[in-house]
Amino acid sequence: MTRSMVLRALCLITLTVSFAVQGDMLIKNVHVFDGRSDTLSENVDVLITGTTISRIAKDISGTEDIVTIQGKGMTLMPGLIDNHVHLSLTGAGLHDMETNQTWEDIAIASVAMAEMYLNFGFTTVRDMGGANAGLQRAIDKGLISGPRVYPSAAIIGARGGHSDWAVFSSPPGQKSQVERLNMTAEVAGADQVLAAARNNFRMGASQLKLMQTGGVASHFDPWQLNGLTKAEIAAAVQIANDYQSYVGVHSYSKEAMLRALRIGVKTIEHGFMFDKEIGQVMRKKGAYLVTNLTAFSPLLANVAAVQNPKSARKLKTAQASFAGYIENVIKHQPKRGFNTDCVGDAFSCPRQITYEIYLNGHFFGNHRALVALTSIGGEIAALSGPLVNPYPDTKLGVIEEGATADLLLVDGNPLEDLGVIGADEKWFTAPEKDGVETIRIIMKDGVIHKNSL
Ligand SMILES: [Zn+2]
Repeated sequence: MTRSMVLRALCLITLTVSFAVQGDMLIKNVHVFDGRSDTLSENVDVLITGTTISRIAKDISGTEDIVTIQGKGMTLMPGLIDNHVHLSLTGAGLHDMETNQTWEDIAIASVAMAEMYLNFGFTTVRDMGGANAGLQRAIDKGLISGPRVYPSAAIIGARGGHSDWAVFSSPPGQKSQVERLNMTAEVAGADQVLAAARNNFRMGASQLKLMQTGGVASHFDPWQLNGLTKAEIAAAVQIANDYQSYVGVHSYSKEAMLRALRIGVKTIEHGFMFDKEIGQVMRKKGAYLVTNLTAFSPLLANVAAVQNPKSARKLKTAQASFAGYIENVIKHQPKRGFNTDCVGDAFSCPRQITYEIYLNGHFFGNHRALVALTSIGGEIAALSGPLVNPYPDTKLGVIEEGATADLLLVDGNPLEDLGVIGADEKWFTAPEKDGVETIRIIMKDGVIHKNSL
């Protein structure tokens, strides 16, 4: 066992012996960040009845059967939401799952990723491909700990596209391991998209994920590749609509984004060539932008998965084409969700998550970062609709009467300092971490997961 594993084991023991405080709760004297406002509501009390925030007011008096927590002027805020994670894409890169791992490696790493996310204050994540609903079921049963999970099941993409992680010599028509595990689905033609989309909903997906353009870390696809036809995208949108859900696409180029949005795709993942025109179409269509900002970090070239000559070349042209992104987002203000997109493990991903939080504040200011991490995250989760939303009776990402009690009690004001929810301006050189000290309480569904008060 390495030192980090021992530390982690110790930490998990402290959390599991934990604080299974349940039932009605009154949190006294907190300043509330409600997920939307750029100021805190000062010195209020928050009453939680079962799994719901039932009252927010000054001087609510408790009774004997209500557990009272003294907030001591700390900040109460919604639990964090990451709209683009891959709990089950683990290891040294996308192709590593095909060549070096069995289902056991993948499943166990997924469990550790889920626990890690909750320990960092994320009470909801949207898994944008790889995880089917088994992980979510285990969490919801209480078998393992983790956030709410909105799974996409198999990523749908074309041969030679961004979700083709088969070995180079794999012949067409032969299913790869990740296809057999329903982590990816290779499609050719609209009919195959219909079949893959239906199968994903059968397996518990709450939305669909398509690989529309290519990427940087993958082997076969130029990032500019517009890899799915209009008919293929339309087939996915049709099935998603039939389930009253929606489609999110991995999309980089302007042409690809416009194609997807016009067909009815609701979330553009990455969307690095976002500009004024795309902003207008998004507003008209009620669509969201979900971008991983590490793509704009000079440190990106240090990611192991891009350290081969082909990816390094792709990275260079990509970064040049994406140069207008930050300015365009500031100017045209799309509704934007938080996206870490970490492919790694429960040891390496905390560094990427806390760096991504830092970059959100650095580029767009603390308030916009927090809105992305909370209320917009909740809006995107709710796009799944009443039929396939795993948590249909929730209102996530906000603090208001009637909202779900997914909450953090934070020592400090995140509007002034994102460091209190973990933001770290170091990425690879950041210290190893297993949580955020200043997040003193983590509550999901009215149940306390961590309490260091
Ligand atoms: Zn991704």
